[in-house]
Amino acid sequence: MHQILIVEDEIKIAHSLQQVLGAEGYAVSTAVTGEEGFFLINTEIFDVVILDIMLPGHSGLEILEALRRRDNQTLVLILTARDALEDRILGLDSGADDYMIKPFATSELLARIRVLLRRGRSEQIFQLQFAGLSLDLVTREAQRDGRPLELTTKEFDLLAYLLRHQGRFITRSMIARDLWQETIRATPMDNVIDVHMARLRRKVDKDFPEKIIHTIRGIGFIVKKEES
Ligand code: CA
Repeated sequence: MHQILIVEDEIKIAHSLQQVLGAEGYAVSTAVTGEEGFFLINTEIFDVVILDIMLPGHSGLEILEALRRRDNQTLVLILTARDALEDRILGLDSGADDYMIKPFATSELLARIRVLLRRGRSEQIFQLQFAGLSLDLVTREAQRDGRPLELTTKEFDLLAYLLRHQGRFITRSMIARDLWQETIRATPMDNVIDVHMARLRRKVDKDFPEKIIHTIRGIGFIVKKEES
């Protein structure tokens, strides 16, 4: 029997999830605080943890990061609010295996749990999305508002990197280190990065009214919607 832990401070949601999952034949435990959840995950073995992001005290993201830092590879599905795109990206960045946006249909949740249990833990995120931009990391196709973007391998990698760090400052030295594996500045990487970035921005932003890649003078870049 698969063991599932629900970490959710809203008692009504926790109880209804417990009932639905119990009826499906899962053994279900619940925790109503992040601390309690963290304790249970570290003392018992679960197949899947359903982790709410918005928790009093330590947030779901902090718990997730702490787990992964300890190399705990339990499957984690996070629950996020509808507009909290950043939480979703951060959650996937922090090692979540999947996410559900509240409110959700329980049938959808059950389907996702079945997929997770079949698939097992994977380092791979298969899709990145932001503001109409969508990157399929398996087929390596990119599109914005349904229009395909013709990207080179490096441009695709750069865009994926930007989306993974959306809402955060991205310096040229981060890009040099993570995408060019450049640790010692033997060659001036900044120009190389700027050339790639300029080409990428022409493809991603030029023909669209809303720009999503922005230069932060003296720092580097940020991916965000223009109004924020
Ligand atoms: Ca909550």
